[in-house]
Amino acid sequence: MARFANRVPAGADPTANGWRAGEIGGVEVRVNPSLLLIALLVTFTLAVGVFPREVPRLSGLIYWLFGALTAAVFIGSILWHEMAHALLAIRYRIPVKRIVLHLFGGVAYIARDPERPAHEFWIAIAGPLSSLTLAFVFGALGSLPDLPGAACRWLALINLTLALFNLLPGFPLDGGRVLRAALWHFGGSYRKATRQASRVGQGMAALFVGFALLLFLGGYWFNALWFVLIASFLYGTASLSYRMTLGGLTNEAPLRRVLRYNVPLIDARLPLALLAWRYMDHAPDQAFPVLRDGVLVGMISAAQTDAVPRLEWGRVHVDDVMLPLSAFPILLVSETLERAKAQLDAYNVDHAPVFEGTQFVGMVNRRDIVYRT
Ligand SMILES: [Zn+2]
Repeated sequence: MARFANRVPAGADPTANGWRAGEIGGVEVRVNPSLLLIALLVTFTLAVGVFPREVPRLSGLIYWLFGALTAAVFIGSILWHEMAHALLAIRYRIPVKRIVLHLFGGVAYIARDPERPAHEFWIAIAGPLSSLTLAFVFGALGSLPDLPGAACRWLALINLTLALFNLLPGFPLDGGRVLRAALWHFGGSYRKATRQASRVGQGMAALFVGFALLLFLGGYWFNALWFVLIASFLYGTASLSYRMTLGGLTNEAPLRRVLRYNVPLIDARLPLALLAWRYMDHAPDQAFPVLRDGVLVGMISAAQTDAVPRLEWGRVHVDDVMLPLSAFPILLVSETLERAKAQLDAYNVDHAPVFEGTQFVGMVNRRDIVYRT
């Protein structure tokens, strides 16, 4: 799963639960204590059920040791799935706060929702695809003899389950995000797509409750309880996502409503090192207007500075690498959000300068429009 993490003070951050397990590629990994329950459950199932049935007549200690080892690999598989989400998010310049592994698998908390349906699609689908890949790899290793083979066959099955479960179209599962990306792409509205996908998520939760009832009547009480837990988790998150999209602006609202007025103006002769230190480090996904002798001449963002080796940031200046003004649409404060978005699409950019008459007055980011219409 990949989820949106609100910006809150570190001490009060509800996503920072559990123990800190380490860091991979700058992404903090945390483990919720509830994961221990899963590890124990998996170890128990394997040591007492699966392994003795598949490879009989070994000592109990061997079964338990192998069960614990397989459970550890299983948790590694979940981390692998979440890392896939995180890597794609980072590729689209969306910071990843942390990965938390817990009872229901894991969550990669990304700093904000993607700005384009295609980005959302790839970030969401990366998880199930990575689990499917693991399922194939473990499946191929399933022909190994004895316990290693039995462990690989179980891991193949569980990764396949993980991929398929996450592909269910209920928001906030990965499949729900894929659905939202599709609705967003074809319908054009992020908020509307979120509402529709949340409704499907709530419907999904209701189906799970129905299924739990059947399991309960059939005498599978433990499994029934499990489905009720997942259903309440799904329903809660889907409803929250729904509420977050209420309100908002219409497509006909003027661009003025979402304008960023207080953007720092960058001098064209500023070295990249100073640009990074003073401005970009605080807003890595922002674009900045560049002025020469008081006249707007271009824009610069991390995409341009990152193309220059860091060692040269002291002597390369902003106007050596900035994008010229001609790379951006000229937007006016009075035009509609819909037209502004169409212009951003036409120029294939995420930021643009905004004018009142001939006067530069501020900036607009694609996400300011996307999240609010
Ligand atoms: Zn996922």
